Amino acid sequence: MQRTIAKEFEFSGIGLHSGDIVDVVISPSTPNSGIIFRRTDIIGRSRDIAAKFNNVSDIALCTTLNNSDGVSVHTVEHLMSALWACGIDNALITINGSEIPIMDGSAAPFINLISSVGIIKQNLKKRIIKIKEYISVSQGNNYIEAYPDDKLTIDFSIDFAHRVIGKQNYVFTDDILHSDSVDIKSITFINEISGARTFGFKSDLEKLREAGFARGASLSNSIGLDDEGILNDDGLRFQNEFVRHKILDCIGDLYLAGANIVGKIKAHRSGHMLNNAMLHKLFDVQRNYEIIH
Ligand SMILES: [Zn+2]
Repeated sequence: MQRTIAKEFEFSGIGLHSGDIVDVVISPSTPNSGIIFRRTDIIGRSRDIAAKFNNVSDIALCTTLNNSDGVSVHTVEHLMSALWACGIDNALITINGSEIPIMDGSAAPFINLISSVGIIKQNLKKRIIKIKEYISVSQGNNYIEAYPDDKLTIDFSIDFAHRVIGKQNYVFTDDILHSDSVDIKSITFINEISGARTFGFKSDLEKLREAGFARGASLSNSIGLDDEGILNDDGLRFQNEFVRHKILDCIGDLYLAGANIVGKIKAHRSGHMLNNAMLHKLFDVQRNYEIIH
């Protein structure tokens, strides 16, 4: 069955790119309404933006959703991955600014907040998008592919010319749909992926800030790297935290399909743009997928 949160909760935090402090309220919503973002600071234009792949606009450094009135919400991917991991189909996310707070740079704080209010089952069946045909999108050496399979797996690899990162590969296997209880959280995601933080290079920071990005970035919400190594005093949460974070992003981006995807995903150096391009390709042709309940 579909699920929503058991009761409303709120939190505040800084936007990674905007540097703005915003307040967010997440409320339960009705079956089949999906995940909706609502900008309460917008007056005279449509304030609601549906969390759907075809509303994705700017994806240079984060995933941004846009409605037909040009109202947008930035950096939705970590919250989307937390909602996916908790099995939440329907929720209203009210925000008084343009960017979802970065929290600690991972999805773990969102999962803790959702867990603190609880989850309820609703009276309509969950929709599942089953991949039926092989599809692939690429740009240079970077690619993401999807194959039919009976569960979601994400086999992700990255290759950075930095001695701390280098080549990393990780395979995530979903366990979320294998239970009928109210609490269908993906324990694998929570244990292996949810704590992995976003990362950035000190050498890029000044240029990014001049261009209006990373204004809220700090070592309390990102892994910082310079030529020598990691700048964070506490080091890494996982030795391969970087590839795990790429899987976190990928799951958040793919949840913009509007339902859980079932299939095998293989990605090399994929990012927000290719993740979104794959969803467009998937939904372009009806025979690529099947909706099951
Ligand atoms: Zn991310």
